[in-house]
Amino acid sequence: MRIERTRQIVKDQPDAELRRIGEKILNNERILSGEGILLFESASLGFLGALANYKRELLHGDKTYFNRNFHIEPTNVCVFTCAFCSYSRLYAHRDEGWELSISQMMDMVKKYDGKAVTEVHIVGGVHPKMNLYFFAELLQKIKAHRPGLHIKGFTAVELDYMFRKAKLSVEEGLKILHEAGLDSLPGGGAEIFDPAIRNQICEDKVNAEGWLNIHRQAHHLDMHSNATMLYGHIENYGHRIDHMERLRTLQDETHGFNTFIPLKFRNKGNDMSHLAESSIIEDMKLYSVSRLFMDNFPHLKAYWPMLGRQSAQLSLSFGVNDLDGTIDDSTKIYSMAGSEEQHPSLSTAELVSLIRQVKREPVERDTLYNEIKNYKDMDLASMASSPLYN
Ligand code: SF4
Repeated sequence: MRIERTRQIVKDQPDAELRRIGEKILNNERILSGEGILLFESASLGFLGALANYKRELLHGDKTYFNRNFHIEPTNVCVFTCAFCSYSRLYAHRDEGWELSISQMMDMVKKYDGKAVTEVHIVGGVHPKMNLYFFAELLQKIKAHRPGLHIKGFTAVELDYMFRKAKLSVEEGLKILHEAGLDSLPGGGAEIFDPAIRNQICEDKVNAEGWLNIHRQAHHLDMHSNATMLYGHIENYGHRIDHMERLRTLQDETHGFNTFIPLKFRNKGNDMSHLAESSIIEDMKLYSVSRLFMDNFPHLKAYWPMLGRQSAQLSLSFGVNDLDGTIDDSTKIYSMAGSEEQHPSLSTAELVSLIRQVKREPVERDTLYNEIKNYKDMDLASMASSPLYN
């Protein structure tokens, strides 16, 4: 039924080039960079959304994944000064920020004893004095306390700095952290790979080749990872497609990425505050083109603390099949950048309800997308009153 409707939308497309690209997508053929740019420039949101939703349902049906997780942000002190960052403080101003000790971070982990979380997500600023061995000790202590908790930690930017400072190769550094307990890598720090844009928004930190190489080496060690793209600032459609193309090429080589996560530029309290934020139409176009272009990425995530709950719900009709997790008000990265979610926290019952409101099927997953529980037929009222889901 869905395929027939989508075929009709493609058939009715008056622009011959867009019609040809639509047919390629329906025939499961890869779209090329120029075609991706054309979709951004010329296709209507309705056309893009129909195709992206078709792809999403082909891959996942109505299933919409989430996990139960919390974040640890060891510090917001950072040696870098990325122009879009609202979060970091230089070492000279560290009294305005935070620097957590290992025992403070272990207290955060212990707060979840007996609770059904499956993942801790650890990212933060690049602190000049928190080195590889400090974090290896943290990982060991978390694993000793709770062996079953999946640790997803450290952007390629943090890792690059740690490894260089320890005078280790990427492979040597990753092996140390992996053996200490690091299970997978998050997707942060990718921003936009194009060097001209990267030089303007985050000139000092690891470049595209370095970022991609860290993920390549992690995949070789059988660690999975995610990939992000910061959009809606000074980049153009060509830069977005170039970014996605580089990720798609690495995924062809390693198959180690789980999820692509577009991150929307938010403009509060940073050096790019003069720029307007992207519209919701532009956000949904971006999700749609991402779903169509990133054909070898199994999952597309809308990170709800950044996008807001309602836009995240909407994105489930534009290619998205994952909403991240419960978070439990444990991250400040997007609240400090002006997101409407100032204390991002959703109970399992609330996440399930959000997903069911838009007629999708909520599925709790672990970090690697093994299904833990399907909430399609659970009674919402009993969930809302049960401590198991709140
Ligand atoms: S984006 Fe990350 S690396 Fe850049 S200044 Fe902020 S915390 Fe530091």
